Amino acid sequence: MQADHPLIETPFSYRNCCWFCQEPATKLFHFPQSNNFVVNCVHPSLSLYCCNECFVPANKSKASSIWLVFKEVKSFLIKTYQKDLAIGINWTQEELANSQFEGGNFEGFKRSAWFMYEVAKKRVNFQGWPLIVSGINIEELKWGDTESFSFDNVEYPSIDDAIIHYAQAFSIPSDYFKEVLSHVGLERFSFAVRFCRLLVGTTPNERKAALNNLIND
Ligand SMILES: [Zn+2]
Repeated sequence: MQADHPLIETPFSYRNCCWFCQEPATKLFHFPQSNNFVVNCVHPSLSLYCCNECFVPANKSKASSIWLVFKEVKSFLIKTYQKDLAIGINWTQEELANSQFEGGNFEGFKRSAWFMYEVAKKRVNFQGWPLIVSGINIEELKWGDTESFSFDNVEYPSIDDAIIHYAQAFSIPSDYFKEVLSHVGLERFSFAVRFCRLLVGTTPNERKAALNNLIND
């Protein structure tokens, strides 16, 4: 457990469940992760339990809030279980039971297909539970996620759009810009822009050294 990432509260009925899909939880997931430089997170850092499978996309995510990670995990589940979910589109349970195909592989298919469909559907549809961190319900912060970001008289749909815009303008990786911002703070966006402007045409090593200097200043 990371001390600055308090564990969310879990209702008794969901104890030991994955917050993303309600399967048995096996892993502890921290947000933001140490390798994900989130500069505009609208909620406090937190930890929650999830299953092995949901941990994979969550761990890869570069999203700026736990609710956006949630969406990416659902997309992953839908993709992974596309075939199972299609059962419910192509058949009703009754049709499947009354189908004229008998014997052989199809018997096994009939038995397991509907079950697999229901499991996948339940996991995709599960909505988690309200996030309470250190005794504070943070659900309403969810809606702060879509806020646009204004800088230098330009309205960007999101902070990420602004970061990508400037990173491209300076030919530096957007992850680097994010890392700079995570150190200097979003309120000093113009400082981060000035800092990164100096790095046009630099090598990754030079940029790393510049950031170290900035941090240790
Ligand atoms: Zn899960």
